[in-house]
Amino acid sequence: MDILSIREDFVSGKVDLVSFYDDVIKKIDDKKDLNIFLDFSKEKVMERVNFLNEKLKNGEKLGSLFGISVSVKDNILVKGYKNTCGSKILENFSPIFNATIIDRLLEEDAVILGKVNMDEFAMGGSGETSYFGATKNPLDESLIPGGSSSGSASSVSADLAMISLGSDTGGSVRNPASFCACVGYKPTYGMISRYGVVSMASSLDQVGILSNDVKSILPIINVIGGFDEMDAVTMRDAVNFKEDSEFSLNGIKIATVSNLEQYELDEVVLNDYKKAIENLKNQGAIIEEVDFKYIKHSTNVYNVVMSSEVSSNMSRFDGIRYGYRTENYESTRELFTNTRSEGFGEEVKRRIAMGTFYLASSNNQALYKKGLEVRDLISKEVNEVLSSYDFILTPTTTCLPRKIGDEKDNALSAYAGDTFNVPVNFAGLPAISVPLNLKKIGGSVQFIGKRFDDEKLLNLAMNFERGL
Ligand code: GLN
Repeated sequence: MDILSIREDFVSGKVDLVSFYDDVIKKIDDKKDLNIFLDFSKEKVMERVNFLNEKLKNGEKLGSLFGISVSVKDNILVKGYKNTCGSKILENFSPIFNATIIDRLLEEDAVILGKVNMDEFAMGGSGETSYFGATKNPLDESLIPGGSSSGSASSVSADLAMISLGSDTGGSVRNPASFCACVGYKPTYGMISRYGVVSMASSLDQVGILSNDVKSILPIINVIGGFDEMDAVTMRDAVNFKEDSEFSLNGIKIATVSNLEQYELDEVVLNDYKKAIENLKNQGAIIEEVDFKYIKHSTNVYNVVMSSEVSSNMSRFDGIRYGYRTENYESTRELFTNTRSEGFGEEVKRRIAMGTFYLASSNNQALYKKGLEVRDLISKEVNEVLSSYDFILTPTTTCLPRKIGDEKDNALSAYAGDTFNVPVNFAGLPAISVPLNLKKIGGSVQFIGKRFDDEKLLNLAMNFERGL
């Protein structure tokens, strides 16, 4: 059921708002073992629900997201809640303002359920690098949920939240959506304000939306998307996407990926990709294979570009301005060093170290510059294909979720899963991951659209989803 229908049920009284949320709170408590919520308060949720219920009873004007529950990744600021980014260094940090997108949701009468677990500072693709422990996959608790928006995908897939907000720098919304078999949408770069969202790699970061169906994304993007004077890269306009009842897959041109051997796809992922292609063909889409030359290098290049930006963005965590401060120092230098050594986890330290090396002036930033050149090649390749096709179709992740703990310390294998996700961030394009079987472990496919062609992308995905 899409969220507008759920809203209607609340408004008409068919579903009682207060009892609905009593049940949600019980369910969240039952599912504590999944380690999804980092900050959750049933009192705060019920205070909000009672406030909304009063509005309803008094016949006041109700917002477009009346009663819709949203869980929020712990790098998006919500006043009154901690914002840890899954890190010890921010363990006790509480923001004094809301991210723009949170204010916008609240204005439309949404219910913020709480803050959810994530890989530390959004660095990871498994949900295991959080200082607060791994999140579990609700579809099989022995498996990783993917990351870095691990709690976002788990909370939606476990039906605790109707919607979740995550962030996507190199696949962090689409990867866990695929592992938890729900929908994950990363809009065009600049579509959603990032004011109040903790930066990872600013030239790649974008807020994304997770849900159990594509249609539910429309009312959310229409509320949170569009111009924000606090984020200089946001587009000028407001967003008003509609479902196009005339939209048909017939004649839509879609490029698919050829020579799939080189991507080492898991067999299930490969078969589900083929199934998706057949399905689209049967509905009249024109499918042509394209030989992408550079995509296979995407995660290696991503490592260079992302770590360089990470090392610079992370310099603000110094024990003075925010969060954790070491007790063990005699000089300012020691204060910085020991705070960071004690406060950051291994994966974050690794990336800061690599990024600092890539940016070193002693080698004239040669690696970083090379990284930018190859990023450009990949972006151009993808954009060139999109100049002849309406969309590109790829598998979302190259593999299925593995067991929690397996290969936890093998950073390189973790990166490779995002081979098809990363080019989308490089080029600032919109993309959506749709599972072949909702809430069942298996393959998901990713549709990539042209820049700012998000409305058409969402309509395509809705049609695809309907035909499954
Ligand atoms: N998994 C990728 C990484 O580890 C992507 C992270 C992200 O998009 N935030 O960097």
